[in-house]
Amino acid sequence: MKNKKVLITGASVAGNTCAWWLSRQGFEVTVAEKAEWFRDGGQNVDVRGLARDVLRKMGLEDTAKQLCTGEVGTDWVDEQNRTIARFAVEDIGDGPTSEMEIMRGDISRIIYEPASRKATYLFNESIARIEQNNDVAIVTFAGGRQDTFDLVIVAEGVGSATRQMLFAGQNRMRYLNLTIAYFAIPGKPGDGQFARQYNTVGGRGATLKPGRDGKLRVYMGIYKKPGQENRLPTAQQKQFMQERFAHDGWEFPRILEGMHQPTTFILRYCDRLNLNTGTRAA
Ligand SMILES: Cc1cc2nc3c(=O)[nH]c(=O)nc-3n(C[C@H](O)[C@H](O)[C@H](O)COP(=O)(O)OP(=O)(O)OC[C@H]3O[C@@H](n4cnc5c(N)ncnc54)[C@H](O)[C@@H]3O)c2cc1C
Repeated sequence: MKNKKVLITGASVAGNTCAWWLSRQGFEVTVAEKAEWFRDGGQNVDVRGLARDVLRKMGLEDTAKQLCTGEVGTDWVDEQNRTIARFAVEDIGDGPTSEMEIMRGDISRIIYEPASRKATYLFNESIARIEQNNDVAIVTFAGGRQDTFDLVIVAEGVGSATRQMLFAGQNRMRYLNLTIAYFAIPGKPGDGQFARQYNTVGGRGATLKPGRDGKLRVYMGIYKKPGQENRLPTAQQKQFMQERFAHDGWEFPRILEGMHQPTTFILRYCDRLNLNTGTRAA
């Protein structure tokens, strides 16, 4: 690569991390993010192993530690909330509760803030077209302007439109037959610092995870093949979950009540992307 002009698409964990490192190595970095502003939100992400090493090398590990959710382990519980199996971090280290549990928005923000002081961020922007010309990529942005880059890094997550454009026909999604609703409900005394996992019947279950803000993060899942629920309006998605969990015990009455309160609610299929190759050169 003769020059050092890099375009990164996607300003989340991966895109911000690339921007952070490459700007410090003297690259001229532009980050294009399709959202109108930095995307906060999301629930817990696990920072394990290599990712933890990278965070340490960036000097951000202590900042991240201060933002951790405070979860100290995971209990598998029965319908009466009695612990059947405990996986405490202090006993087993990294397990169902990872060595670092942090909210996605928090980890992304602590990387975005220093990265954005060196790289140029374009929000509400994405790639409309890329052409390769000798050893540069000519990029036409959705907003209309054109620019050339020596390297384009696509960090748009699983549903990336640019990856689909560049590797058409090679993005094979594997659905993992799990539909999960993610949202938060108010915590109450006695919830504690352990995450709780309860499985009812029919492939249904939920995990409750403590947070720094006193709320419980809910992951309510159904083992089933993907249907059309992820395309429904939020109110209908909530109704879909309501109907499936309406007769379950444990904390489900409280979870369903909390689900109908104003809360960020996301329903998704778990999927995995299989791609034969991740790079293209001129
Ligand atoms: C709002 C949100 C909430 C999430 N919540 C969780 C969670 O609770 N738990 C969990 O484990 N994982 C969550 N994830 C996914 C999680 O961030 C990833 O699993 C992991 O952290 C890797 O992130 P990533 O940077 O590769 O991709 P992602 O975090 O998916 O980020 C991709 C970024 O690219 C942007 N983008 C997408 N398409 C384009 C485009 N065409 N042009 C420009 N920008 C584009 C998106 O707006 C997003 O900012 C969430 C992702 C998002 C975006």
